[in-house]
Amino acid sequence: MGQVYDVTVIGGGVVGMATAMALSNRTELSMVVLEAEDHLAAHQTGHNSGVIHSGIYYKPGSLKAKNCVEGREAMYSFCEKYNIAHERCGKVIVALTEAELPQLDTLEKRGKANGLVDIRRLTAAQVKGLEPHAAGLGGIHVPYTGIVDYKAVVATYGKIIQEAGCEIRTSSRVTKVEHAGGNFILQTAKGEVQTRAIVNCGGLQSDRIAHMCGVDPKLQIIPFRGEYFEIVKEKEHLVRNLVYPVPDPRFPFLGVHFTRMIEGGIEAGPNAVLAFKREGYEFGDISIPDLFQYGTYIGFWRMVLKFWKTGIGEMYRSLNKAAFVGALQKLVPEIENKDIHRTGSGVRAQALAPNGALLDDFAIEEADHMIHVLNAPSPAATASISIGETIATMAIKNFGLHVK
Ligand SMILES: Cc1cc2nc3c(=O)[nH]c(=O)nc-3n(C[C@H](O)[C@H](O)[C@H](O)COP(=O)(O)OP(=O)(O)OC[C@H]3O[C@@H](n4cnc5c(N)ncnc54)[C@H](O)[C@@H]3O)c2cc1C
Repeated sequence: MGQVYDVTVIGGGVVGMATAMALSNRTELSMVVLEAEDHLAAHQTGHNSGVIHSGIYYKPGSLKAKNCVEGREAMYSFCEKYNIAHERCGKVIVALTEAELPQLDTLEKRGKANGLVDIRRLTAAQVKGLEPHAAGLGGIHVPYTGIVDYKAVVATYGKIIQEAGCEIRTSSRVTKVEHAGGNFILQTAKGEVQTRAIVNCGGLQSDRIAHMCGVDPKLQIIPFRGEYFEIVKEKEHLVRNLVYPVPDPRFPFLGVHFTRMIEGGIEAGPNAVLAFKREGYEFGDISIPDLFQYGTYIGFWRMVLKFWKTGIGEMYRSLNKAAFVGALQKLVPEIENKDIHRTGSGVRAQALAPNGALLDDFAIEEADHMIHVLNAPSPAATASISIGETIATMAIKNFGLHVK
């Protein structure tokens, strides 16, 4: 019989890698990370906005609030320690209509409840002081927010994991999971892996991996593409740091915004368009099995009934640049069609409950010798160190691992 690993982590995104790092730091174990693609951070982690979120948006007491606040500071310390380029540049959230002003109160209260004592309400003039080209009847300054490249963060997690003697295998998509002799046998694109325990951090595929393991996740992952534009060099002066609208409280997305990137340049976006394929980065990417799966899921149709108008609006903005620019002009009126060009996109793995609700909080489910991360949307990259520690604590107990 070949090697039997104590733990196998499925998925080399920021959550899987942070979990593997926490486990390798805290326990004596043999462990392998299996990643489907030929490099780490190939999906959500490598296609995100690169924002270190503050924690202002999340319901006090939620996993998102706790892990974002703790994870944010852990991320800053980690970047300092390992010399990863980052900047605590702060951001401005602006109210664009009278109706949005009370929502600033809610955000301010939430922020304070989550320990963000230094957030500051802004008048329209003070918004201009920070972001001279932004619109807004008022706003909030959030000094805790920052920027980083999460691909660089994951590369460093990888070094730490390997230095601890654990393995990372790319191009190793898990295609089947069987139980035998108290262990799991995982079929992968590069052969069989035997393991005593599994942590599923499969992002866009996490519900399918749970099913493969014999666990009914009682939800389905629905892919929402977020498309980005970049501002041309000559107009970069229109945005100093990060400018966000007040988010629509009905959705777990933040609304199109402007983000300065750590490697330079300003991005605009992302929108939130229903994708026709789980890893569908282009409008024309279609997967019949993926469409069939959500087309036959009751939760999908319940969501459509509730949000079809918003969904059509997002599709329209995706296909029509002028409409996208229109949304951006509400935030920065001087921006014009010719000032931005398409760059890329990311696809969010959003868990959808059978009742049609988009799961707001992180969802981590345990089964015998298994942990399944079933909903890890934004701010999971920010929160990754904290989520990794949380999962490691669960794993130590559930898998009976020896603490160092
Ligand atoms: C457009 C966009 C913008 C975002 N902006 C931010 C932001 O600014 N700040 C922030 O904190 N968060 C942001 N997020 C959220 C953040 O990127 C995600 O929450 C985080 O990356 C999730 O990490 P993950 O490891 O769970 O998933 P992923 O990064 O998707 O990793 C899952 C991995 O599992 C692998 N996999 C799948 N199936 C298998 C299989 N069968 N076998 C082996 N491997 C498999 C995949 O290839 C993938 O690499 C954003 C997300 C998107 C999409």
